[in-house]
Amino acid sequence: MYYTSTRDSSVKVTAAQAITNGISEEGGLFVPCEIPSVSRDFIKELAQLDYIGRAKKILSLYLTDFSEEELDYCVGGAYAAGKFTAKEVAPTVTLESGVSILELWHGPTCAFKDMALQLLPYLLTTSAKKTADGKQIVILVATSGDTGKAALEGFKDVENTNVLVFYPNDGVSAMQKLQMCTQEGANVAVCAIKGNFDDAQTSVKEIFTSDAVKAKLAENNMMFSSANSINWGRLVPQIVYYFSTYCDLLNQGKIELGDKINIVVPTGNFGNILAAYYAREMGVPIKKLICASNANNVLTEFIESGFYNKDRDFYTTISPSMDILVSSNLERLLYHLSGDNDAFVKDCMEGLFEDGNYTVNKAVYEKIRGIFEGGFCDDDATKATIGDIYKRFDYLCDTHTAVAVTVYYNYLQKTADSTPTVVASTASPYKFSPAVLEAVGSKEVNDADGFALMQQLNAITGVPIPAPLAAIQNKPVRFDKVVERSGMTDVVLDMLGIQ
Ligand SMILES: *Cc1c(COP(=O)(O)O)cnc(C)c1O
Repeated sequence: MYYTSTRDSSVKVTAAQAITNGISEEGGLFVPCEIPSVSRDFIKELAQLDYIGRAKKILSLYLTDFSEEELDYCVGGAYAAGKFTAKEVAPTVTLESGVSILELWHGPTCAFKDMALQLLPYLLTTSAKKTADGKQIVILVATSGDTGKAALEGFKDVENTNVLVFYPNDGVSAMQKLQMCTQEGANVAVCAIKGNFDDAQTSVKEIFTSDAVKAKLAENNMMFSSANSINWGRLVPQIVYYFSTYCDLLNQGKIELGDKINIVVPTGNFGNILAAYYAREMGVPIKKLICASNANNVLTEFIESGFYNKDRDFYTTISPSMDILVSSNLERLLYHLSGDNDAFVKDCMEGLFEDGNYTVNKAVYEKIRGIFEGGFCDDDATKATIGDIYKRFDYLCDTHTAVAVTVYYNYLQKTADSTPTVVASTASPYKFSPAVLEAVGSKEVNDADGFALMQQLNAITGVPIPAPLAAIQNKPVRFDKVVERSGMTDVVLDMLGIQ
């Protein structure tokens, strides 16, 4: 299996090269040259395995340059007993007849990013051994909250790696800040910057591409790599859980082999739902992929009209991990749906860069309509849904999941499509306690003390506080540095001891 670039289909690299490099040289994203397909029997056999077994089977189709021992080591390490608090790793639970929830947040940081970021360090260090002859890998992350913590937790104490996270000092929640600043591990560092997320992201990109900094790293046998969702190593682990949820529905007797299901995904950068698209192309019987957005509804408009327009108001919502106007992974979908047309993708991306928008042609638009549905809802509807499904089903969900649930029930009402449906649940409700508390009817919600809020939510609902969040209370703050943007390069060199 080889990988090519969405913007230049003459590129041909191995999985290890795609994962080590992160992004193709001319700016395109790595995609598999061919999407492997599986038989009904393959799915039937998969259903007999545990999560680690399922992950190995799926990954072996994509990472053909990894030996069986390497895959055992990577997958076995990432999802080993005790790393995830649910023994199934990603359990599928029933909401009501015909509607299930795929819980992706039982990892160490209580958000779905763990599903990929627990595995990525193994994939990256194994890939680097093959392609980068023993260089030390330096991961720089700009985060608006969830990715930073999940990357720190994934890479902590991983040999031959360093991870350094920058976050906007006033741009993350109190709980997210605490999660990051109490991070343990000898190879990690966290630093706040004066500015917003875009400032952090722009500066990280500048450091990442600075010839002077890169030369300094090279002198010390180090290289940069990336842990964000454009890296193929973050996408491929996510395909596994869409197979896994289908197997679980089979085992629960909810469907028969071959029955179609719908999948609903709360979407930001389009990585999670793109993984579901790959699962569908590979042969998981999926009818519709339903893309759910918050008030930042650029994707809903795109799916309905074929017109992508990022020039619009940006809203800060109670589902912040979906507050995004440029969904990077959409580029991969455009490549596949256009019949591997790199010139077409390049045109679209140039349009986006220069004019803030692009329109796809009729053929691509019709393919999108055949596979995807889009929908969105605002914060009031999100909170109403959290309260409603808590009352009706005694199930507590977070704000992102609630956006997806809202969009699903709107879709059901509009279409009466009674296909069994799985909603991807992307975070523990305790990560977003203030909004969830309000939604379940608490009158006094004060954002200042994250722990008091968790305890209040626990007292009202009886839902247990996830152990990793409860444990933070007793951990010392290790990182409290705040710098100007101009000071970020020094922070990087300092941390690596190569000033
Ligand atoms: C990152 C994130 C999302 C969005 O996922 P994408 O792959 O970027 O579409 C949704 N919910 C939560 C809680 C997240 O952390």
